[in-house]
Amino acid sequence: MELLDRNSFQDDAGFAQLLDANDPLRHMRDAFFIPKIKGSSKEEIYLCGNSLGLQPKLASVYVKEELEKWHKLGVKGHFESDNPWMNYHEGLAKVSAELVGAKPSEVVCMNTLTANLHFLMVSFYQPTAQRHKILIEDHAFPSDHYAVESQIKFHGHNPAESMLLLKPREGEECLRTEDILKAIDEHADELALIMLPGVQYYTGQVFDMQQITDAAQHHGITVGFDLAHATGNIEMKLHDWGVDFAAWCTYKYVNSGPGAVAGCFVHEKHHDNPDMPRFVGWWGHDKATRFKMENTFVPIQSAEGWQLSNPPILSLAAIRGSLETFEQAGGISALRNKSKQLTAYLRFLLNNRLKEEVGIITPDEELSGCQLSLTIKTDKPGKSVFDAIEAEGVTCDWREPNVIRVAPVPLYNRFEEMVHFVDILEQAI
Ligand SMILES: *Cc1c(COP(=O)(O)O)cnc(C)c1O
Repeated sequence: MELLDRNSFQDDAGFAQLLDANDPLRHMRDAFFIPKIKGSSKEEIYLCGNSLGLQPKLASVYVKEELEKWHKLGVKGHFESDNPWMNYHEGLAKVSAELVGAKPSEVVCMNTLTANLHFLMVSFYQPTAQRHKILIEDHAFPSDHYAVESQIKFHGHNPAESMLLLKPREGEECLRTEDILKAIDEHADELALIMLPGVQYYTGQVFDMQQITDAAQHHGITVGFDLAHATGNIEMKLHDWGVDFAAWCTYKYVNSGPGAVAGCFVHEKHHDNPDMPRFVGWWGHDKATRFKMENTFVPIQSAEGWQLSNPPILSLAAIRGSLETFEQAGGISALRNKSKQLTAYLRFLLNNRLKEEVGIITPDEELSGCQLSLTIKTDKPGKSVFDAIEAEGVTCDWREPNVIRVAPVPLYNRFEEMVHFVDILEQAI
């Protein structure tokens, strides 16, 4: 364990191998399929879990199991077998809840991320003539921007007046918490809702969700978070923080496959509020009477009350495989411990070798998850450096206008890969 002391980090592959040998989660890599470099038997250096997490072997086992069940049981699969489809989503609540620091009754896997943001805003954005604004980042992920803008229009308000867009200070990439809190105070009387990321997709910045929630609720403002880049990456306590709602996709750090069913959180304080508007469907109806097929909607008194449809089981099966893999690793706190070391090691290597050539816009450790967002400071365009490292078997991602995002994931990345990645990057520059 001494080896993990950051003051003794060394820049060589032998040292990185020692870090790997001392990593209690080293074996978890074997729980995943690692893509091979095209035309070779060598594994890629996959640093793209922020975009699409790798496939857990268990996901493939469970998806096959459900195909088999459908094959053998047909419609009876809804009720027969160990994991009947009828209740399949319930089995995902416990571990999903642990990932975001919630009670199982506060989370549900349903729909997709942007759809969930819309359905949650139907409930949680109730503009009045005085309080009609939504605070979001000036450079939010486009889907979030569109969703907020269209909700404002849907309520008959003007986005130019009702969207409060927060910009970083001149010359800075990240929003400062103090500036977010100041904006909340200054606009408290007009704000109906605050919707911010848990972790920012471009910079990798972690937002101080607790302070933001406290400041907002002090003024009676509703708070929701988009946790697309936070879930499976950092530790959270949505329940204790009193966050009103949140949504996330499960194909990034939750490794559940392209377009997988998303997650959502509704704090229990809202579960039995009969006045809260929502768009409903039969899957949100009280389970005891759902199949009486009557026309009076009785909501389930949990996050499940927001469900609309019976969910796509093949996707839930992949989520199940992924969540069990998280459990095998000892959960998010064990993973976060390794993640801090792994990202710190990458940061150390970059600073040691490429301090002049490569900038890191991601804030320091307390305000970052596993992703580092890199800018190339030499004359070479960032995109051509990106192309060069991809050609050498690194998979990471390029984001306009100017960032290479690299995300070492504690479930399947190794310390040694950090050295090889920096070797390749150095060559490319
Ligand atoms: C990945 C991501 C999305 C993608 O939305 P989908 O509805 O899953 O296509 C939206 N918002 C943020 C912040 C993201 O990081």
